[in-house]
Amino acid sequence: MSDAPEFDRAPASSFAYVTLVTNRDYVLGASALLRSLRRTDTGADLVVLFTPGVDEQDLSVLRPFKPRLGRCGRLPTSAEFNQLHERGRLHAAAPFTKGGKPVFHTPLDNFVKLRLWQLDEYEKVVFIDADALVLKNCDKLFSYPEFCAAPNVYEGLADFQRMNSGVFTARPDRATFDAMLSQLDRPGTFWRRTDQSFLESFFPDWHGLPVYYNMLQYVWFNLPDLWDWGQIHVLHYQYEKPWQAGHEKAERLRLLIDLWQAYASGDGIPDDLSGLPGPEAPADKRAS
Ligand code: UDP
Ligand code: MN
Repeated sequence: MSDAPEFDRAPASSFAYVTLVTNRDYVLGASALLRSLRRTDTGADLVVLFTPGVDEQDLSVLRPFKPRLGRCGRLPTSAEFNQLHERGRLHAAAPFTKGGKPVFHTPLDNFVKLRLWQLDEYEKVVFIDADALVLKNCDKLFSYPEFCAAPNVYEGLADFQRMNSGVFTARPDRATFDAMLSQLDRPGTFWRRTDQSFLESFFPDWHGLPVYYNMLQYVWFNLPDLWDWGQIHVLHYQYEKPWQAGHEKAERLRLLIDLWQAYASGDGIPDDLSGLPGPEAPADKRAS
């Protein structure tokens, strides 16, 4: 289906925060994200794109946050493209060595993000992954140009060479969408990190946002010096998800997982995030 998403209501703003959910797990993620966005008192629309992998009933947990719900399909990519980017094939061809991807993560679904460029009822949109929380108002991003994203920082300096597609600014435009589709699916093309590799290639001059607009959870234990609760606008649970029962890194990320659970349930969200404890400095950096 190359048709634009079909919505349950008209837009109420020229700006929107958009997320994507293709199964029930990410709906859960989106419920915490939407609650966090509402708490920032934004006047922008909150848009959730969903695919047929989501039951309409599952969406009921999102309705209290009054999102605009847009039904859409995957992109109309070729059988060859779909096969190359199929989960098992992609994981074998381009293994994830730094962290684990949950079983409910389907790489092909990531490309649906490109449908943002079909939402030309909006002047500007900000995409946010469903596994993120917005901790501070981000509305100023609507006056930022296309294409802005933060670097993919979670281990060290080399990470600054790549962007992370969990948060980005876009100016919807059907012509851009068409150009993207034609570059995306060419014979033999393999995007090893799916939409992220594609967007990096489509926007080689991407503008860098501060890391605080897409703070990746591994920074907590890999680069604790970067952590600053007073600055973090978006906290992004890349790799293992905070709603995965007892995942491999759960103990090291306990405080961040508890924070996500508070947003998911609406219970116990701290009034003052800047008062939260920071990560423990690694043993070799601790003052003796
Ligand atoms: N997504 C989805 N279903 C999938 C895979 C991805 O809905 O099977 C959406 C969802 O919004 C998710 C984003 O695409 O947050 C990117 O995937 P994910 O966050 O799991 O990747 P990571 O941040 O771990 O690289
Ligand atoms: Mn993510």
